[in-house]
Amino acid sequence: MSRQTPKISFEFFPPKTLDASFRLWETAQALAPLGPEYVSVTYGAGGTTRKLTHEAVTTINRQFGLNVAAHLTCVEATREETMKIVQDYADAGIREIVALRGDAPKGSDGFTAHQDGFNNSVELIEAIAARGDMTIRVGAYPEPHPDSPDTDADVAWLKRKIEAGASSAITQFFFDADTFFRFRDKCAAAGIDAPIVPGILPIQSWAGTKRFAAMCNTTVPDWAHEAFDLAALDGADAERQLATGICVDLCEKLIAGGVDRLHFYTLNRPELTRDVCAALGVRPKAGLEAVA
Ligand code: FAD
Repeated sequence: MSRQTPKISFEFFPPKTLDASFRLWETAQALAPLGPEYVSVTYGAGGTTRKLTHEAVTTINRQFGLNVAAHLTCVEATREETMKIVQDYADAGIREIVALRGDAPKGSDGFTAHQDGFNNSVELIEAIAARGDMTIRVGAYPEPHPDSPDTDADVAWLKRKIEAGASSAITQFFFDADTFFRFRDKCAAAGIDAPIVPGILPIQSWAGTKRFAAMCNTTVPDWAHEAFDLAALDGADAERQLATGICVDLCEKLIAGGVDRLHFYTLNRPELTRDVCAALGVRPKAGLEAVA
């Protein structure tokens, strides 16, 4: 029996320098031919990339003809300002939003709503859904979110987000396929039937991944520490091969467990994601290069 090829999507972040703009362009150019369902562009912590995100979203949509989902958070903005951003996307022909509560800007402690802003992600989702013209995706947490007492609380809150108008969820990254399956089963038991898509982080830098995992509450297994410590002795090529192997293995386990969609956190670097996709049977399709 032939293995199912997953549907894929990619996350990018908005570039802040000219150099970074070229890198994003090259990444989009390298990955667009793989035919993603959509690509998404993040919104800087504390709402710091409002204009840059808008430019990246609309440029990628225009130049590559890709369906683009714009991330949006509730942080540091009034309801009116936040909904103006949604309107600007609608005016530019964008029809997908990844709606998030967001985190406090660097240096502050915990999320505090703007006095005239949305208090949480559910309020934001409700307001976007009321427009009736946007597909809404949301974040989900297979391991407890740092603000959450346990996974049951995350599942209950995710249910609220879906009921508020979201149609699918993308998870935080994780190392262990069983972590995802346990979460998926809990969501199903809670009556959540919207697709929950695993967020996959190809490991570009082990040091960076460990830092990110600590911030997100993602468990880093002992075997990963040991494997990267050993690979480091053999240099960058060995680390890259290890990262590819780990990512392919995780994706294959997820697919074997019934997952049919994968969302890759590319960090604006195409190579690892492209190699992992190739190993999963996702190959370039003719005619999907940049249109300008
Ligand atoms: P929520 O799901 O609303 O909350 C997270 C958890 O906190 C919930 O599961 C629940 O347990 C608890 N919680 C929160 N509010 C309540 C409440 N009122 N009542 C009960 N429980 C509550 N951040 C950015 O700044 N920019 C981005 O572009 C960005 N993109 C992301 C993309 C994905 C796929 C993911 C998973 C995360 C992303 N983040 C981004 C990070 C995100 O902003 C943080 O994780 C933030 O702390 C939570 O946002 P959320 O909308 O997922 O939170």
